[in-house]
Amino acid sequence: MHGHGREALKCFELMCEEVVQPNDITFVCLLSACSHAGLVDEGMHLYASMLRDYMISAKSEHYTCMVGLLGRAGHLQEAENIIKAMPCTPSVAAWKALLGACRIHGNMEMAECVAERILEMEPQNATGYVLLSNIYAAGGNRHICENVERQRKEKGAKKQPGRTWIEVNNEVHTFVVEDQDHPQMIEIHAELQRLSGLMHHAGYVPYTKFVLHDVEEEEKVFHFCYHSEKLAIAFGLINTAPGTPLQITKNLRVCEDCHNSTKFISKIVGRAVIVRDANCFHHFEDDLCSCMDYW
Ligand SMILES: [Zn+2]
Ligand SMILES: [Zn+2]
Repeated sequence: MHGHGREALKCFELMCEEVVQPNDITFVCLLSACSHAGLVDEGMHLYASMLRDYMISAKSEHYTCMVGLLGRAGHLQEAENIIKAMPCTPSVAAWKALLGACRIHGNMEMAECVAERILEMEPQNATGYVLLSNIYAAGGNRHICENVERQRKEKGAKKQPGRTWIEVNNEVHTFVVEDQDHPQMIEIHAELQRLSGLMHHAGYVPYTKFVLHDVEEEEKVFHFCYHSEKLAIAFGLINTAPGTPLQITKNLRVCEDCHNSTKFISKIVGRAVIVRDANCFHHFEDDLCSCMDYW
């Protein structure tokens, strides 16, 4: 979960040496580790070994991992074939894994089909509508975008506002998008302005395109300072000693711009920033994220 794929594989080797019997969950962890570390051959080998040597049959979670593994490496068609060949009904998670791969590899055509499928499966959930409208917006298709938004309202599928939590001195602070209520907001904005200058100097360019994530409402605000995780990070920086790692939690997925910004910030301030978002953990340190920009 923290993106240390190779360490997970080493643990498995130790398990084998100690003759600890792996079960189906062990293989979910292993396949997900291979997927996160981009170890396609190892993942394929482990999957085959699970079926053949350990007589463990593949469940929905294993298929989802394989979709992620292949999709991430750019084998989008093979990943889709896995979903189509699943003996059980494919899960939303499997389709979302494929959508993630479409985002990385820029396959908008497949992304549109996948988002439609997700919407069919969960018509009451705002996620499918947001994904579809983001895809149309990215293609400059404003009109269809508005239609999708109207459909969402008709179905009563509510969007979740973005929210980020950070704990400092045993107290949890919550931030929402464009937050104005926090008593330290002036200092927080001053810190973000300071960081913004340093980031631009270091080559940061704001990401202003719509993204293929279910990042929802707050992500339509593209000003550097306004997303809830940026506010939480700035708050953490001014209220903790230099060098202290920051740990924050977000209810939605991190958007592309916040992800990129946090990489710059971690390097500029020399701190580790650990973000738990709706999908995974991100360990930002020295201009890198443990998710290797795939989330
Ligand atoms: Zn953001
Ligand atoms: Zn990340």
